[in-house]
Amino acid sequence: MSFDYLQQQLHAEQCPLNELAERFGTPLFVYSKAQLLANWQQFAKVWPAPHRLCYAVKANSNLAILNQLAKLGAGFDIVSGGELARVLAAGGRADSVVFSGVAKTRAEMRYALEQGIYCFNVESAAELERLNDVAAALDKVAPVSLRINPDVDAQTHPYISTGLKTNKFGIAMTDAVALARHAASLKNLNLKGLDCHIGSQILKASPFLDAADIMLDLIRQLRSEGIHIRHLDMGGGMGISYNHEQPMDVSDYLLKLQQKAQDVTDLTLMLEPGRAIVGNAGVMLTRVEFNKPGLDKNFLLVDAGMNDLLRPALYQAYHDIIPVRQSDAEPSIVDVVGPVCETGDFLGHARHIAAVEGDVLAVLNAGAYGFTMSSNYNSRPRAAEVLVDGDRAHLIRAREPLEQLWQGEQLVEESR
Ligand SMILES: *Cc1c(COP(=O)(O)O)cnc(C)c1O
Repeated sequence: MSFDYLQQQLHAEQCPLNELAERFGTPLFVYSKAQLLANWQQFAKVWPAPHRLCYAVKANSNLAILNQLAKLGAGFDIVSGGELARVLAAGGRADSVVFSGVAKTRAEMRYALEQGIYCFNVESAAELERLNDVAAALDKVAPVSLRINPDVDAQTHPYISTGLKTNKFGIAMTDAVALARHAASLKNLNLKGLDCHIGSQILKASPFLDAADIMLDLIRQLRSEGIHIRHLDMGGGMGISYNHEQPMDVSDYLLKLQQKAQDVTDLTLMLEPGRAIVGNAGVMLTRVEFNKPGLDKNFLLVDAGMNDLLRPALYQAYHDIIPVRQSDAEPSIVDVVGPVCETGDFLGHARHIAAVEGDVLAVLNAGAYGFTMSSNYNSRPRAAEVLVDGDRAHLIRAREPLEQLWQGEQLVEESR
């Protein structure tokens, strides 16, 4: 819909991608505003107030993207002080922010308390104590949710599965009640909610609904003891289609969640979607440098590598790769690999692609965990980012100039 061929040219909305590659250079991330809004709407239309949606900033934290979402009334799920600063710089409201993460520092807690965030998602007994201390020192009361580990199998890649009891995340079910009682007793904490996040790129609703049953039971139990939990945050993790997978019907999942929670009065439901909002709203453009025939296989060497898009190297993730200009040439079977000096530096294995030097390829579904995971490895400046709105393309992050690569570095003066 937002990335389609028109007269054999791949477009982002009404912008031909070939022209964007020419104008802004490659590697280049291109996002579609219409797709971003449509993805958001898919959630928002079946999620009436007081329920809340907190976009997971780590999926794509470009200020322009955050700003678009803030204008739609999004809240934000952050995992660092840096992400909070980004949200505020992008025009997001502190009181719409939930702060996740297993190892928040005192400085991050202080910063978030001073800004007045909505809630800290606390992951351990030790973090609870630390937050109570930091809040006491500021003479504040910290709003808290406990991140519970419901121990359900999300049936996804082990690196992005977070809800099993073997993961580093969350508070074990067996400790949950005791810790909730303790949290409720601490003077500088206000225990408002419970949350969970069972993993990412989850394609079926059933693991989420199983987790919801467990979490709702816990809320009923705590309420019966007089601990009045007011919100349940079910996290993110809704998957998208990278390779013809059939993702869950989001509306159906959201409605089922609301049904399950119906008998629990005065309970705000929250979600923290990241990938499902930005994943298919972005592509990465890369230019072919060389065709390199090998003994066993042929390589297509392109100008984007694992430093630009880490997911294939890190998770063996699949991204579709298609030429921005359709041709009648016979495709050959190639490994699409980058310029980085690592054997793990690939974008796709054994792909059927017809491309020659100078052609531009689009790596699809690169809007989430694309730019945000990129690095300067091999002293490669990070890619530029563009947001397309109809027939207009806005540069939302300039390509890094070389000098920026060593910004802050210093030579050591010789001393005798
Ligand atoms: C990463 C993360 C999310 C977002 O996950 P998606 O799979 O991108 O939806 C939400 N909540 C928490 C706590 C996370 O760590």
